[in-house]
Amino acid sequence: MSSHDNRRTFAIISHPDAGKTTLTEKLLLQGGAIHLAGQVKARGAARRARSDWMKIEQQRGISVTSSVMTFERQGITFNLLDTPGHEDFSEDTYRTLTAVDSAIMVIDAAKGIEPQTRKLFEVCRLRSVPIITFINKVDREGRACFDLMDEVADMLALDVCPMSWPVGMGGVFEGIYDLETGKVSRPEGPSREFLGKVDQDVTLPTEVADEMELAQGGYPEFSLEDYRAGNLTPVYFGSALKNFGVAELIDAIARYAPPPRPQPSEQGTIEPSKDEVTGFIFKVQANMDPMHRDRIAFMRLVSGTFKRGMKLTPSGLGKPIAVHSPILFFAQDREIADSAEPGDIIGIPNHGTLRVGDTLSERNDVRFTGLPNFAPEILRRVQLKDPTKTKQLRKALDDLSEEGVIQVFYPEIGSQWIVGVVGQLQLEVLISRLEAEYKVEAMLEPAPFDTARWLKGTDAALKTFADFNKMNLARDRDGDPVFMARSAWDVSYQQERNPDLAFSATKER
Ligand code: GDP
Repeated sequence: MSSHDNRRTFAIISHPDAGKTTLTEKLLLQGGAIHLAGQVKARGAARRARSDWMKIEQQRGISVTSSVMTFERQGITFNLLDTPGHEDFSEDTYRTLTAVDSAIMVIDAAKGIEPQTRKLFEVCRLRSVPIITFINKVDREGRACFDLMDEVADMLALDVCPMSWPVGMGGVFEGIYDLETGKVSRPEGPSREFLGKVDQDVTLPTEVADEMELAQGGYPEFSLEDYRAGNLTPVYFGSALKNFGVAELIDAIARYAPPPRPQPSEQGTIEPSKDEVTGFIFKVQANMDPMHRDRIAFMRLVSGTFKRGMKLTPSGLGKPIAVHSPILFFAQDREIADSAEPGDIIGIPNHGTLRVGDTLSERNDVRFTGLPNFAPEILRRVQLKDPTKTKQLRKALDDLSEEGVIQVFYPEIGSQWIVGVVGQLQLEVLISRLEAEYKVEAMLEPAPFDTARWLKGTDAALKTFADFNKMNLARDRDGDPVFMARSAWDVSYQQERNPDLAFSATKER
């Protein structure tokens, strides 16, 4: 087994309240990374309290930032990338999913597939990210298991394959039946948790036995190939709160989830076995500590063995930087990385030289593709309360767009800058961070535009377009031309009139 084959880099996708935090906690406990349940949230709260802008998180009880947690079990290194779980999601969430090889989809047994589950699932599907399903909260009264299975199959157009099945739910919950081994894990003690009691050769009541038989016979058999291609999802039932099915879930990731996948680049597919160290930045977090203007760029290692002190060239910079104090994210604390393998995430402290979408490589000869900017769905004009603060505002907007909190558009005509986001919450984060970190008070007003499209074409085609549409032209942070459209109709109208121009809803870097 080569060194990266034992890496599993994954994320949990779910609708708020389905139990992602509870499950994360239990996964880390099983991995021996933390020793007290409750620590994930407590630690989170303590960390959040340190930074002003994160007050939003506390008020809403949500986690805006995503982080990385690494734990080990039976020789496998698991890298769990946390995706922000609020309903209103940002580009951050999408981008994090570009850095994983597989995902766990957590579903509340009483609710089934919810809107957020579905959206995140679609992002995974775009990239053929394989998914293991965990139907949570079976210790409580939920919907019928067959119903839930059918819903996953129908709504997501996936083959489903049950791997376990609850023996009763809610008040009559008796345990989880492993459909492969026929063992039943049973609740113990007054809190009816799973503490390790597993029965073999149990005689199930006829009714239950019939149900198991139906479950076993009524669905396609598990196929590793179909799962890895993203066409089939193995389904586990359990209770994160009571610890049922969590060990089985870890085993499933270890056994079935893919090791680090090759990544597409302009130079062809880069295999993890390639000698050269390469990786890409999928997230930048600025001002983690408001007292220091530090930034951490999160790099997913694609190939090679990274060693501390190594010189890597960021594609956006063109000259090498020495990575002296990279950070690995073990669940307890940040740790300084001495080395990292493909699939691992390292944090690279920097002062703004590293940007989302950058490729880093030893020989500066690779450019990864497929890390898009998404067309914003909400556009707002930024209005300063104190007009003398223009410079500070520009700096702040540039910084925050670099971080992926917002996108910024500078119109060719006029001085009113426009910000774009994919979710409402990002606007609140923007206002709050402008005040806390840049001492800039600003208001957001409706913009006369509905959407934006990146323009690509020959200079001549761009010029013709600009001559007629100066009022609707802007530049993004990189100076690339963007068409600010009043409506979707406006987009198709201009598209028809300018066949030589591409109007793109995403911007690939
Ligand atoms: P998140 O928003 O997805 O991170 O959800 P949380 O992990 O914060 O859980 C939401 C609520 O559901 C909390 O009150 C949890 O205690 C509860 N919960 C999570 N897992 C289970 C479970 O397996 N059974 C029951 N009964 N409650 C659960």
